[in-house]
Amino acid sequence: MLEHAIKTLKDQFAKLARTLPPVAGWSEMELPTNGWLFLQHQHQHHWPGAQQTMRSSRISQDTAKLFEQAIAPAAAAPRRSSRRSLSRFSYSQHESPRTTNIAATITTDIEDAIAFASPPPKKRRLAASTTSTSAASSPSPPTPPPQQRRQPRTPRKPATKRTDTLTGETFISPPSEWEVTYNTVKQMRSPPGAASNAAVDSMGCERLADTKASPRTQRFHTLISLMLSSQTKDTVNAVAMHRLKTELPAHKPGAPMGLNLDNVLAVEPGVLNELIWAVGFHNNKTKYIKQAAEVLRDKWRGDIPDTIEGLTSLPGVGPKMAYLCLSAAWGRTEGIGVDVHVHRITNLWGWHKTKNPEETRLALQSWLPRDKWREINWLLVGFGQTVCLPIGRRCGDCDLGLGGLCKAADRKKVIAGRKTREQTAAFVEEDVKGAVLLVKEEKKKKEDEALLELVALKQEIVNDTKVGLL
Ligand code: SF4
Repeated sequence: MLEHAIKTLKDQFAKLARTLPPVAGWSEMELPTNGWLFLQHQHQHHWPGAQQTMRSSRISQDTAKLFEQAIAPAAAAPRRSSRRSLSRFSYSQHESPRTTNIAATITTDIEDAIAFASPPPKKRRLAASTTSTSAASSPSPPTPPPQQRRQPRTPRKPATKRTDTLTGETFISPPSEWEVTYNTVKQMRSPPGAASNAAVDSMGCERLADTKASPRTQRFHTLISLMLSSQTKDTVNAVAMHRLKTELPAHKPGAPMGLNLDNVLAVEPGVLNELIWAVGFHNNKTKYIKQAAEVLRDKWRGDIPDTIEGLTSLPGVGPKMAYLCLSAAWGRTEGIGVDVHVHRITNLWGWHKTKNPEETRLALQSWLPRDKWREINWLLVGFGQTVCLPIGRRCGDCDLGLGGLCKAADRKKVIAGRKTREQTAAFVEEDVKGAVLLVKEEKKKKEDEALLELVALKQEIVNDTKVGLL
């Protein structure tokens, strides 16, 4: 049975092979024995249409049948073979066709063998090319860009107490990078910086005095606005001050209404409390304002004290208010007005580790240049109101966070902020390019028009000359 099948198969191949063009190196005698290999050879090198022909030809179908019958034990293997087992069917140019054993190689039918001789799927080929080191023609995998590493920063140091080795004097060395931090915040506080237009810029205590009032009354306004401001937002404080300036009853008939010492002394505590009810701790503040007014009348001749000691002797006035009041009302800066914003933010930056605003004030005063003592309060209060908020800090909009200058920056927000800035910069660049292009086009259009006018003028002159000659 087997012999008969092989014989028939050889005859079929020989028959088919004789119909094809001759191939160098193949004698006619080899056709009966190596007919299949011959066909493969033809398909690969001389007869591109052979595969399709084989698939549809009667010979192919018959051959497949014969093979199945002839090699029944081998065909018992599952038709759905593994890739590895099927790879045996693939044609190899290095393999000598003369030594290939057909019966041992082909386990199913010829059509399957031809089909698997085609290149494997693209995905597999790509995977192989990336792992193979011997395939010179395979494209090398893309090399990832080198990681951009930031230069290692010098470790941040807080303000530190040191001793001069020559003189033996102790001094406080400022925190590292304090100046660049300070200047960056200053830049952010100026338009169009992210921290410009803070509430303190227009409604800070220093700005709530009525400029039309007498200097003494203006100073009194500054003191009262500072007393109202603790634990209160600038916006709320401004409203309360406006009510006092416009609604506080006159102390006697014919006297002006509004905020002045006489009216405060004369007003009922209940009325005063009602006018300032929106501010925090208004009951206590009402009491302190009334008491402070009496001290001013009795001890300071109706004016506010011009010393820190005098100011802090007033009920409800602490060092922060005193230093700010002295600066704003008398124009003398003898210390830093440290409020919650200044205390919180300077600790966030790692300038010091202090427990309360008073400790912060002393720490700052130990090294901060004196010309910055007044400015720093305004700077950091506005910064704390707009960017470095007590809750929900905007590190993505903060130049300190984006510039790697703040150790407390929220990394996620900073990364998002950097992306946004890059995109905005790209948009701006496009807009600028577009505008430049527009200007160029406009210029060219005008030049063309001028040229046309010139040509028309020339033509007119030529025509006129001709007419004149005639
Ligand atoms: S980076 Fe964040 S935490 Fe640091 S100063 Fe800016 S807003 Fe405040």
